[in-house]
Amino acid sequence: MESNEDKLLGSRFIFEGHDTVELAKKYGTPLYVMSYDAIKRSVDKLKASFEKSGLEYSINYAGKAFLNTAMCRIADILGLDLDVVSGGELYTALAAGFDPSRITLHGSNKSQQEITEAIEAGVGTITIDSLYEIDLLNDIAASMGKVVQVHLRLSPGVEAHTHEYVQTGRVDSKFGIPISMGSRAARMAIEKPNLDLKGLHCHIGSQIFNTKPYFIALTGMIEMVYNIKEMGAEIREINLGGGFAINYLADENDFDIDSLFPSVADFLRENAQSLGIKVPKVIVEPGRFIVGKSGITLYTVGTIKEIPYIRKYVSVDGGMADNPRPALYNAVHSAVVANKYDYEPTDLVTISGKCCETDTLIKDILLPPTEPGDILAVMDTGAYNYSMASHYNRLLSPSVVLLSGERDDLIVKRDTYATIIANDVIPEWMGNKQ
Ligand SMILES: *Cc1c(COP(=O)(O)O)cnc(C)c1O
Repeated sequence: MESNEDKLLGSRFIFEGHDTVELAKKYGTPLYVMSYDAIKRSVDKLKASFEKSGLEYSINYAGKAFLNTAMCRIADILGLDLDVVSGGELYTALAAGFDPSRITLHGSNKSQQEITEAIEAGVGTITIDSLYEIDLLNDIAASMGKVVQVHLRLSPGVEAHTHEYVQTGRVDSKFGIPISMGSRAARMAIEKPNLDLKGLHCHIGSQIFNTKPYFIALTGMIEMVYNIKEMGAEIREINLGGGFAINYLADENDFDIDSLFPSVADFLRENAQSLGIKVPKVIVEPGRFIVGKSGITLYTVGTIKEIPYIRKYVSVDGGMADNPRPALYNAVHSAVVANKYDYEPTDLVTISGKCCETDTLIKDILLPPTEPGDILAVMDTGAYNYSMASHYNRLLSPSVVLLSGERDDLIVKRDTYATIIANDVIPEWMGNKQ
């Protein structure tokens, strides 16, 4: 009988200089593989566009896309600031030694405890998401004898996702303060002795391919900077949020990051001059753009089931527990058979996960004929995979390996059966049968 070893000798898919089949053998599957070099290239693109613009800027990495202690170190090494949205993300950053003054706390429903922890740690910015939070934050800061630097998150009435954007009322959103209430919110914040309103923030969506919606948002934001100046306060920073798209499929365009910040600079300079305000520092907070294309997931093929003339299901040893995006929002990914990389793709198949749901990872993809034991590499899984993973079906969360140059290092260990039950407690009255 042909051994697994023989089959795996076919032409290999090389990711960032590394043989993915060898990685699968060394670390097991399913496996998240991240590339430091690829992350750095994305960050360099953002920086190059900002450098061309001549703007004062900072790039905040949106931690929710992919966060663990090693990623916090990467953000630090690459000169990124960090956005966190929960006590857990803040704790992760602090545990990694990330400078708190370069952290922004976000969230549409921050708890008193999260706010207290953030102020105690000395985070640089807290982004206020509602009128309620203006009072809440001021009260907590006052009780701690601190003045907190804040941004107001405004919803500027434009929402954009993928190729589409709408200008109708995204006032109907749980995020941010409708821009029509922006002046009132600003006045409230300015009057609070324990808040220093230094900036305005907006985030108009995710996976946005077109730069236009950012300018629609900016139009409202710059007007608000002017209104606030008339109240006697100066807005020094504008945060344009994240959302820059990546191409998951070959036929999608790239987001035009090169032109974005130079154009933003032109827009701001023209408006600042006519409104008599200073050009503010520009902050962005991309997640997907930085890590999305920097990661892949490796799986081992198991059961293959052909329903003649209908569909061929190729099952892998992970699924919606490690990548919920297809189930959540019909997200699309491409994939290759890592040990048959240059074989003719002649087989139309559907990739299924092993969870007790339909669990379709990829519907209808052309692959070379697959067999049990093949290694499947699903592309572009660096963002919103690991961070959104669950323990559904008590599957063990995969390990994460970081490639950097020739190195491969484990940065998150795989769950074990022991870690899966680590927080389980059997009430005493049930008796203990162990
Ligand atoms: C999700 C989110 C981001 C990052 O979005 P990407 O699409 O990953 O760039 C940035 N800012 C806020 C407020 C967010 O909610």
